[in-house]
Amino acid sequence: MGLRFGAAVLRAYQSPFTLEEVALNAGPAADEVLVRIAGCGMCRTDLAVRSSAGRSPLPAVLGHEGAGVVVETGGPDTRLSVGDHVVLSFDSCGHCRTCVGGAPAYCDSFADLNLFGGRKENAARFTDAAGNPLAPRWFGQSSFAEYAMVPARNAVRVDPALPVELLGPLGCGFLTGAGAVLNTFRAGPGDTVAVLGAGAVGLAAVMAATAAGAVIVAVDQHPERLALAERFGAIPLYRTGSLSDRIKQLADGGVQYALDTTASPELINDALRALRPTGHLGLVARLHTTLPLEPGTLDRGRKLSHICEGDAVPGLLIPRLTELWQAGRFPFDQLIRTYPLDEINEAERDCEAGRVVKPVLIPRTEMEHA
Ligand SMILES: [Zn+2]
Ligand SMILES: [Zn+2]
Repeated sequence: MGLRFGAAVLRAYQSPFTLEEVALNAGPAADEVLVRIAGCGMCRTDLAVRSSAGRSPLPAVLGHEGAGVVVETGGPDTRLSVGDHVVLSFDSCGHCRTCVGGAPAYCDSFADLNLFGGRKENAARFTDAAGNPLAPRWFGQSSFAEYAMVPARNAVRVDPALPVELLGPLGCGFLTGAGAVLNTFRAGPGDTVAVLGAGAVGLAAVMAATAAGAVIVAVDQHPERLALAERFGAIPLYRTGSLSDRIKQLADGGVQYALDTTASPELINDALRALRPTGHLGLVARLHTTLPLEPGTLDRGRKLSHICEGDAVPGLLIPRLTELWQAGRFPFDQLIRTYPLDEINEAERDCEAGRVVKPVLIPRTEMEHA
């Protein structure tokens, strides 16, 4: 058997994506489901593959914010049925100490499962039209495509009344920002939160902090991004000069929580100086330099940690976020612009130029279904 379908393939690190026919040459294993992708968000981590050669072998189908409809299951172990609507998230093993402890984002095998081609079993089944192998899987999915074969473990069933084509970013970018605020910080009414960088992750953090009743200061250097942050409840602060005193002024003397999405050592130190005693600064972006810390920065109980995937158990956080959306309190859809999957290179250009916060790519087959 075999299934042929369209996908956006990356063949060289600096080349555009090419729309090609690809093939899955075997059906789902016992713990897998085949999903018809309704939409897939584009995340910075997809684009970062270009500059960090080796994070995914090529040729590869990237895309790790997919959502869609289950069309085939490997059996009862998947606990999913044909027709279920699912949001796909990151992969994890399910049996290491951190997975068992409820922290799958810190799975011992996170890098092996999500990067570098993913799980190696059944590796040969995913090929291009000529039969040449593609990287087996990216973040447990490879969703810049009409179909994705995924471990059932990272497919989260959602209410079929929801607009499934828009839900994919709840599996990574929006999960990361919202999870940092709701899971890591557990921010609540009256708490103060600084958000550095008002991109997809930062704006999801702003929305979640607003939903939680916190006071938020959002920092960015793009006025239009700050205007969005303000619309979603933040006090906007234009990034210029030293920020810590201004953050303190706006946040009652200092913030309890800060989230950095920029990886800028300068901004990170500004945020640390703006923290209240016992305050917590979370880092979500990958640092590319050493991080100098001034003496005293972490005194008085302040702490600094890396936060991966919003500390989320996707099966718990994604339904919370869709319920907040249904209540009008997490309007993530306002950050999305849809593109046909064929226009993936335009979506990338718009994303890099800051013209769109979150592109979501819609496969042609899905447009026919709609
Ligand atoms: Zn694990
Ligand atoms: Zn991502």
